[in-house]
Amino acid sequence: MQGITILGSTGSIGVNTLEVIARHPDKYRIVALTANKQVDRLFDQCKTCQPQYAVMADATAAQQLDERLKQAGLQVEVLAGVDGLKYVSSLPQVNQVMAAIVGAAGLLPTLAAAECGKRVLLANKEALVMSGHLFMKVVAQNNAELLPIDSEHNAIFQCMPPAYQNGLEKAGVRKILLTGSGGPFRKTPIEALRKVTPDEACAHPNWSMGRKISVDSATMMNKGLELIEACWLFNTTPQQVQVVVHPQSVIHSMVEYIDGSVLAQMGQPDMRTPIAYALAWPERIKSGVERLDLFAVAHLDFEEPDKNRFPCLRLAEEAARQSGTAPAIMNAANEVAVEAFLQEKILFTHIATLVEEVLESVTSSAADDLEMILQADAAARSCANELLQRRYKKG
Ligand code: NAD
Ligand code: MG
Repeated sequence: MQGITILGSTGSIGVNTLEVIARHPDKYRIVALTANKQVDRLFDQCKTCQPQYAVMADATAAQQLDERLKQAGLQVEVLAGVDGLKYVSSLPQVNQVMAAIVGAAGLLPTLAAAECGKRVLLANKEALVMSGHLFMKVVAQNNAELLPIDSEHNAIFQCMPPAYQNGLEKAGVRKILLTGSGGPFRKTPIEALRKVTPDEACAHPNWSMGRKISVDSATMMNKGLELIEACWLFNTTPQQVQVVVHPQSVIHSMVEYIDGSVLAQMGQPDMRTPIAYALAWPERIKSGVERLDLFAVAHLDFEEPDKNRFPCLRLAEEAARQSGTAPAIMNAANEVAVEAFLQEKILFTHIATLVEEVLESVTSSAADDLEMILQADAAARSCANELLQRRYKKG
């Protein structure tokens, strides 16, 4: 029986993880569930799953949850804050930690899981983008297992030869082909992008996801973050990762070999497949995902990404090449920008310009330790907020 902590259990990935786990009560036991401040949802999940611990990042929400659980006669220990999140990632009875908090807030608890040698199921790409070098070192030093949940990286992992960690060239790999749908605005006239609303940006054609990653998909910053994520996970350089726009989201990514073979992983665009794969690896378990009907799919299309339409992709490529704290700076600026867009304080097209300005203003450095990374994150956030106050206005 595997003990599981789900960081961010009330989110889109968290809920999908609970669905897969519910199909296999003989294999997995929920030890801890966590959320930011969604008391009602976490309460309901506690009723259903009866975990040992529930953690809320927000202290007031934690108090409310505790009262409700006591009233209902449920014996769940409630903890609060980052320390609570780190604690439930480190418990000895936990074998696997699903890292499904959105954004930089997930870094410390995810890192804590790696420090304790857990199997880390990584959905929270921002954590790896910020801290790649350090994160991979912590994983190696503590014999943790890092399994990608992001559908592209999960696909790449499935198509990789054994021993790829010793270098892709030695393993006969020429390139990683990172696919992306192009999001809801692939065909929208570029002049119209100024006017798109948060709801339009969040209406992804193929995937149903949280609002932050949905906006990232619409700007293609998501693909940029994934490019950096791929470099760390597969020990390679941005030059060896090619972004391919594939609007149907049936192929989830590919690996190209030196003999001309290209291996692809295909399936429905449903996160329960990569979640089930990572939970059970190296075995396979049922996920509840419908089978892929190739006759219904009928066509697969591929295009080169348009970097004029999607400047965030270019910014991410530059940050990836620069390395050090540049990806952390970019990530923080993007988080501030996306939040401001979702609150309708800035235009959709301001997201890229704000990120670019922050990258120009905040100097990057080496990113060898946590202190440096957190400092870069904080500096980028304060720069982004200052720019927002001073210069960015809707209209
Ligand atoms: P979501 O917004 O639906 O859920 C986020 C979860 O994190 C919630 O449980 C929320 O309570 C928690 N949370 C938010 N802020 C927090 C904070 N400050 N402290 C502690 N917890 C906090 O997001 P999602 O779509 O599930 O995405 C989660 C992560 O997985 C993101 O990094 C995203 O990029 C990645 N991811 C998601 C998908 C997808 O299909 N949704 C696919 C690939 C990767
Ligand atoms: Mg993805």
